[in-house]
Amino acid sequence: MPRVGFSEAAALGRVIARGQLLRYAQGDKGYTPRFEAELAKMLDVRHVLAVNSGTNALITALAAAGVGPGDEVLVPAYTWVSTAIAPLAVGAVPVLVNVDESLTMDPIELERQITPYTKAILPVHMLNVVCDMDAIMAVARRHGLLVVEDACQAIGVSYKGRRVGTIGDAGAFSFNHYKNITAGEGGAVLTNVDRIHGRALMFHDPGNFIRGLEASTEPYFSHSNMRVSELTGAVLYAQLKKLDPLLRRLKRRHAMMAEAFEGASGCRLSPHNDPENAVGMTVLFDSAGDAEAFGQNRGVERLIETDRHVFTNWDAILSKRSFHPRMNPYQWANREIEYRIEDYDRTLDILRRTCRVALGAQFPMPVMRMRRSVLKNALSTRVPAPRPLAAE
Ligand SMILES: *Cc1c(COP(=O)(O)O)cnc(C)c1O
Repeated sequence: MPRVGFSEAAALGRVIARGQLLRYAQGDKGYTPRFEAELAKMLDVRHVLAVNSGTNALITALAAAGVGPGDEVLVPAYTWVSTAIAPLAVGAVPVLVNVDESLTMDPIELERQITPYTKAILPVHMLNVVCDMDAIMAVARRHGLLVVEDACQAIGVSYKGRRVGTIGDAGAFSFNHYKNITAGEGGAVLTNVDRIHGRALMFHDPGNFIRGLEASTEPYFSHSNMRVSELTGAVLYAQLKKLDPLLRRLKRRHAMMAEAFEGASGCRLSPHNDPENAVGMTVLFDSAGDAEAFGQNRGVERLIETDRHVFTNWDAILSKRSFHPRMNPYQWANREIEYRIEDYDRTLDILRRTCRVALGAQFPMPVMRMRRSVLKNALSTRVPAPRPLAAE
């Protein structure tokens, strides 16, 4: 994430000097609407709506696209739990799909999981690594499904010349502390579909009926308050200018760090769905033991150990609990939804054998070159773990 510093402080100072902290207070001249307009221009998408978190961005996108009780939504088994929570929040149920070696939803597996009740696909661009959107969109078209991209971890990243989040019917970003740009918390819904944007406006702001409704194409409905404050808008406006420079730094570091794995035995860079534009780096090992050992290096993390992103730890989902028994979407589903760990052995196996390599955008190149030689050395001096004899 880019640093926060003088430009964020200056923008915040201006908001405080005006004394108007509501996002609507300055009309189109406020930081929040300007942030939305600039982001839309930069990504080449018709509508951007800032909201107060990435989770709420996903929930708003699903609700605005018309997902609800009785619907099934396909989500990957490797993601942050919010991806699976979002369908539940609109009364639908998440159905888990294995990831492939690229760490994103496997399009073949995806198609196998479709039932007559499937309504939407929620692919996730994890770790700045893009999904196979061509294949996913083709599946969606064949079956008449909606696609809502969870691009919470990948704002700004390109897939074959288009920015992620703008390819499906709607997309969601997060601006929490860990994301490519941040305001501590925050999110955004983006779409090219006017009706989805109109419904998102209503859904995210109970006061929308007094605001001259841009969303007047449909009778007014109301949900919850997910508005951002102008303080968030100000920080995001300043952060946005740092996004493309950040992505350029990541891309340069990706090219440089990739050399550490050239010619290495027993491991390779994970397959990538748009290798020329890669800005997130993961490495796939033949053996879980090798991945575990490599994960000890500075700036490297074995994915199975980031356990918050692994479905086996999502107790609230696996136990199908809800805040109130009569508001539990699983009882509105058209069939029994089951989460059997053994159905997702493939995902777990890939996560055990994969390490993420931090690209250190905040460090100067010489530091990263040093890190590369340390990693290269670790790979060449390692004693390869014995391969299992029998087919696993
Ligand atoms: C961060 C994240 C979210 C949710 O974002 P919040 O802003 O924390 O609510 C959703 N999905 C993925 C994949 C994320 O990484």
